Amino acid sequence: MKLNQPHHIAPDDADARRAAPVRVCYPIDTLPAVDLTAPRSARTNATKVAEVLVPPRDARCIDVPAGHFLRISSVEGCQVGDLNLWKTDNLAERFFSGKTRALYGTHVSTGDQLFSCLPYLRSLATITDDSLDWYGYDNDGGSVHDVIGTRCDPYTGRLLSGGDYHYCCHSNLTRAVADHFDLPLDQAELHVHDVLNVFMLTGFTRDTQQYFMKASPVRPGDYLEMQANTDITAGLSSCPGGNCGDEHSSDTASCYPLLMEVFAPKDAYLQTIQPAQPTAYDRSHGR
Ligand SMILES: [Zn+2]
Repeated sequence: MKLNQPHHIAPDDADARRAAPVRVCYPIDTLPAVDLTAPRSARTNATKVAEVLVPPRDARCIDVPAGHFLRISSVEGCQVGDLNLWKTDNLAERFFSGKTRALYGTHVSTGDQLFSCLPYLRSLATITDDSLDWYGYDNDGGSVHDVIGTRCDPYTGRLLSGGDYHYCCHSNLTRAVADHFDLPLDQAELHVHDVLNVFMLTGFTRDTQQYFMKASPVRPGDYLEMQANTDITAGLSSCPGGNCGDEHSSDTASCYPLLMEVFAPKDAYLQTIQPAQPTAYDRSHGR
């Protein structure tokens, strides 16, 4: 956080230095274009092959084969979810929220790809539909589906409040990974990573640039849908913050389940799918 009263006097050319032009760090016009025509057509006659209801203050995992669609829906009440993604056969390859943010900005929506970590940097999934795409950015600079938050966790809770709360998204996802992949809890925890905050309304305060949240505009029936570009496993926590309009990391907020559904397109379409490949970089790093 920047000082209200800096310790050092600004140089004479401070204004000129501040006036340097803004450049987008990672222009995305060289990314391969995402054409949603075929996926959306395939989605219209896809059939549901799996579903799991994520209980409040808990998490579940579900497998999504390449070409299949994952729909995350609000049911019963306003609820946000913390999403993790892994390549099903290699948990070391997981969603890279930081680079996804660097490419697409603070909040994602239809057409954005969800990339995996280095040294893979593969598009794990592409967002194909978002019932909250109408929200855009509000007057506070807030929006939904951020890739700036990390996930609520008991360690930060203890750091800030001194207490222990066991149903933060980090712990919920840890239990879900342990159950889904049959791993001991301490190993499962290491696979939990920074999330896509589904439905959560967040931004940065104008004055201090601090991460803020406000009540999510999500309502039952709203959904975020994505197509898997390789075989992935999704882990979703129904955040103990509920709609995250007030507080998290406690049992205070009203919480509701979230629904994950997997839809399989017709075989004829699936046979045309070319699973996403990891980066072609040879990892020689100049040696
Ligand atoms: Zn949470």
